[in-house]
Formats: sequence, structure tokens, C-alpha cells
Amino acid sequence: MKAVISIPKNINYSEVGLKVGLEIHQQLNTRNKLFCNCPPSLVSDDILSHLIPYERFLRATRSELGDVDAAASFEFQRKRLFKYLSPSAASCLVELDEEPPHLLNEDALVTALAIALAIGSFIVDEVHVMRKIVIDGSNTTGFQRTAIVALGGHITDYDGDVGIQSIAVEEDAARKIGEDITSVSYSLDRLGIPLIEISTAPDISTPSQARRVAEKIGLMLRFTGRTKRGIGTIRQDLNLSIKGSPKIEIKGVQKLELIPRVIEEEVRRLVGLTMIKDLLIERGASNEEIKAQHIVEVTDILSKSSSKLILNAIREGSKAYAVKLPKFAGVLGIELQTDRRFGTELADYARQWAGVKGIIHSDELPGYGIDENVVSALRSILEVSDLDAFVIVVDKPEKAKRALEVIKDRCIMAIAGIPKETRAANEDGTTRYMRPQPGAARMYPETDIPPIRITSELIEEAKKLIPPTVEEKVNYFVKVYNLSSELAKQLVYSEYMALFEQLVSTYGVNPRILATLFTSLYGELKKNGVDMDLLSDNSYHKIAAIVKSLGDVGKEDLIAITEIVYKYPQLSIEEIVSKMKSRRSVDIGKLRELVRSKIMEFSDEVKKRREKAFQFIMGKVMNEVRGYADGKTVANIVKEELESFLRNAKT
Ligand SMILES: [Zn+2]
Repeated sequence: MKAVISIPKNINYSEVGLKVGLEIHQQLNTRNKLFCNCPPSLVSDDILSHLIPYERFLRATRSELGDVDAAASFEFQRKRLFKYLSPSAASCLVELDEEPPHLLNEDALVTALAIALAIGSFIVDEVHVMRKIVIDGSNTTGFQRTAIVALGGHITDYDGDVGIQSIAVEEDAARKIGEDITSVSYSLDRLGIPLIEISTAPDISTPSQARRVAEKIGLMLRFTGRTKRGIGTIRQDLNLSIKGSPKIEIKGVQKLELIPRVIEEEVRRLVGLTMIKDLLIERGASNEEIKAQHIVEVTDILSKSSSKLILNAIREGSKAYAVKLPKFAGVLGIELQTDRRFGTELADYARQWAGVKGIIHSDELPGYGIDENVVSALRSILEVSDLDAFVIVVDKPEKAKRALEVIKDRCIMAIAGIPKETRAANEDGTTRYMRPQPGAARMYPETDIPPIRITSELIEEAKKLIPPTVEEKVNYFVKVYNLSSELAKQLVYSEYMALFEQLVSTYGVNPRILATLFTSLYGELKKNGVDMDLLSDNSYHKIAAIVKSLGDVGKEDLIAITEIVYKYPQLSIEEIVSKMKSRRSVDIGKLRELVRSKIMEFSDEVKKRREKAFQFIMGKVMNEVRGYADGKTVANIVKEELESFLRNAKT
């Protein structure tokens, strides 16, 4: 059956009453972790592959108020084993919870204080480290240490100022490196890396405003000069609601550009779920009727399908079960987000709670090798009428039945409207169900760490780190590094700003040349297969040292150096310098011969394009000599030879 509702494409955000709050987590590049002396850096996969994991089960969660926390019981019922890898270069007994935490890292605290001063946030007198319960195994202790440093303040924006709720320092969680139905593996290198967490009030009213505010906070953090760069070093969580909906949490939006998209997709889902609720009520759907549905084994019927997947599963001992969803015909096919239907929501629940791979629902049938005859047989055994839908799960009996019970529960929630969920952001901007939201009171004091008084000395230290505004920073770059304001702006907005300043001051290289590496050459290098984001700070130091040693370098040289450093990390600075020098002394006579031969080879093309053939010939020649000859020299020769050829061709 076709989807019975389509959600309007253009949603008026003020009409639906959109409210968004941000929670931004930024890793700091302090010398040590937050509560121990380990360096805050990640180790390579190769190192991890040689380690033997420590294994633990989730501890029984304490329930001080006697309540069962929804998120905790979700995790607990999964009964998963947690495996921890503890690389000695980046973790110690503190991360393993075998030794008490040390005192709070003062550099991290001072950085948070600087941000608080910049946005007029009210700094607390005494910082108290708290324990926030985590239940997904991402912390060996079962809690995350977090400390509020300041409350209040605001970020200005032309769509309206956005309040700041709190500024905190906290420890990053362990890094998930693998997961299956029975276990999760974590590396402890990331555990304890200092984070600053800035939470805004839900004052944001449009997707684009969310992006602007997130960018502003991100830049402010970066301008302290104390932040890490690269994938995963900043994580943006959102909370979002529309009129009549609960607050939905969305975790892990990694890219700034994705924020508006995630909000658009999620609002569409919420509007869609509201429409589904109205439709179900209109049709007379009821909790009791859904609850009363029996799960029916349909292995025999599905054995007549032509789906290899299903037939193989059945041969290996899986069974097929189905359940009728009264009044849900056409609902499962409703598209709530790009390529995600209500049926996908059901599949998410089944996956997260019962560990099944997927589901098949009636709105997509016939299909998947299940033909009209099989569908009729299913409809008749399940007593499905035109207004009803059904879902099939093929798996081990216990899991399949559990999955279908979960799906019934999710359908009951649909009659009430929008469930309160924690969701995860997908890479395409859609979101998926992760788990129910944890309860409110999950914090209790960390007794191993004494409170820290905020002294005037700490405040004085923090004042030195107060980040400038974007305009101030751009003007500074124009003045001190003699950059155009356009280039300065690009650099200031890039993640490489702090690194750029460090390299210029350490190596005294020409800032204008170095600035092009982080701006205009970025895309060019990407085309040549060099992903600059994957280069470490050490590699950039190497590049700057080579540039310094060579003295005067042009754009082509810089591209060549970066390519060599990227592709041959084992080469030393000296080796690359000598390679570059020999490249410069390439035989001009041979180069000229090559240019002439290319012009002859493509003489028809050259005659047609005339002077405009320059780029064409240049490209052909550079393809052969890149890495050996520099572009400027080649360009001069191509120009000369082209002119001479065209002169002769005329007569
Ligand atoms: Zn440590």
C-alpha cells in the first residue's frame, strides 16, 4: 500500500514553534589529561591491535531514588560485555579505575574561565567535580567526571541573542573501536582528554541560526589557542522541540555544515509523527487492540518466497514471525526523513532493543522476493484487513519475538505522538533512534577530588586567554602577517589558524606562502589525493622546516613538498630538501624538448585554441613532470614555445 500522508516540504519554523539548544564539546590540547598525567592523544590502530583487552560487565546501576532509569535499563537488558584496550602511551591506572583521579588540570580550568569571561558568564566561587552516570560502558568507572565552571551569559546573534546555560570542563569518554550484539570494545586513549562543554538555552529558532551560533562558539574556543583540531575533536549535540513535542536529544553532529540539515530533517520527522498520530486516532487505532495482537510463526509461508536471504536464514535455523498492526496500513511507508520511513523507525527500535538486523513490513510488499501469493497467505493467517499493516522478522525465535514485541510498543507510542528519545545524527543529516532519554538526576559528588576555589590568580591567568572577536582576529592577521583581508578571513575561519601562527613563529617562514597552504591549496591537494586533514601537526612542522631550509618557495613547490610528506612519511627533512633541490635543477633543454613534442602531438588542438591552448599544454606537460620540475619554469617554457609555434603556423 502506498504511503497515505506526505509531509509538507517547506515547514514554517516559527509556526511549528521550533526551539533548539546546542551542547558543544571541544577537546583541549593541554599537556596532560584532565585527571592524570597521560598525554591527551590517540594511539594508532596498529598499537591497539597488539593489546589484550580487560573485560568487564556493566555494574548494577544504583537507583538512589528507587526509580528505574529508562536509559540504564535499556543498556542493562542488552547484557553486553565491555572490552577495554589500555595503550600505555596514552592511558594509565587512572583510566582503568585502579587508581584515584589526580587534581583537576588547571590549564583546562583556566581555558573554560577565559570563555566564561568572554561571554559574561557568572563564574562559580568553587568548582565541584561531579559524577554523571554513564551506562553505555564508555567509562570504566560507570560515570563521567564533570565540573561546572560558570553559569549564564549569552551569544549575540541577529535572529536574537542565545542564552548560555553552563560552561563546564569534563573528561572525554573512551573511544569505541568495535561493537557487536554481545560486546563493545573501547580504547582508553581518549578517556580523560579534557573537554569544554558549552550548553545554550533552547533559544535558537531556525536551522541557520543554530549553525551561526555553533560556529561562533567554536571559533571562540579555537581563539583561545588551546583546542585540538581534526575529525572528532569537536562534537555538537542538539536538543530540539516543536509545539506539543517532547525535547528530542540528537547526539554527535560532527560537521558544522550538517547542523541546519539535521534540524530540518528532524523537524520533518516530528511534524510527520504528529500527522501519523492524528490519522491513527481518526482511524480508531487503540493501545488495547495493538497489545492484544499475537505473534504468529510464518516460517512455512516464507519458505515459499524466492528471497535468498530469507531462505538461507531459515536453512540456518532462523524462524519467521509476524504480527498484525491494526489500523497501520500505509503508515509504515510514510517518509519521515530523506529515505527514512516510519517502518525505518520501527526497524531502529527492533535493532537497538532486540539486536535483529532488520524487519520487513507490508507497505513494501510485494518485494524482497516475497510475491503476491505469499503476501495473500500472510494476510489471511494474520487476519489483516485493508486498514491494517503487518511486520515480519526472520531471526532466532527469541530475538525475533522480542523484536516484534518492541515494534508493538513503538506503535502504541505512535498513537500518543512523539516518543522522548535520544537519537544519533547520521552522516547524511538524518537521525536514527539510539536509546530512551536518561532520567534527570544522574549526578552525585566526586568524593576523590577536593573542590577548587576560583582565586584571583586563576582569573588573571584566564584574562590572558580571553578570545578576541572574529573582526579583531582578522585585522590582526592582516597587520601582523601582511595578508589580504580575504586570505586572513579564510584562515581565521579554518581549523588551521593556531597551527599557522605556531609554524610562522617557530620557523620564520613567509606567512603569505604558508597561508595559501591552508586555504587555496587545500582543494588542489585534495584533487591530487592529499587529504590535509589527515596530516598530523608533526607533519606540518616537517613541511615548514623544509620550506625554511629551501628559502624561497612558490605554490608549486609547496604542493610538491606537501605531497611528498603525505605520501612518503618515512623520508627525513634532509632527504626531502635534497629531492626538492634536484627537482629545481632539472635540465631545461630536456624540458623544452618535452614541451615541443607535446605541442606537435596536439598540434590540431593548439591551432584551434591558439593562445588559449596554454592551459591545455601546461596540463599535459605537468602530468609528466610533476614532482620533478616546478610549475613556474614549465609555464615560461610553454609560453615561449607556444608563441613560436603559432608564429610559424601562421606563415
Ligand atoms: Zn592516565
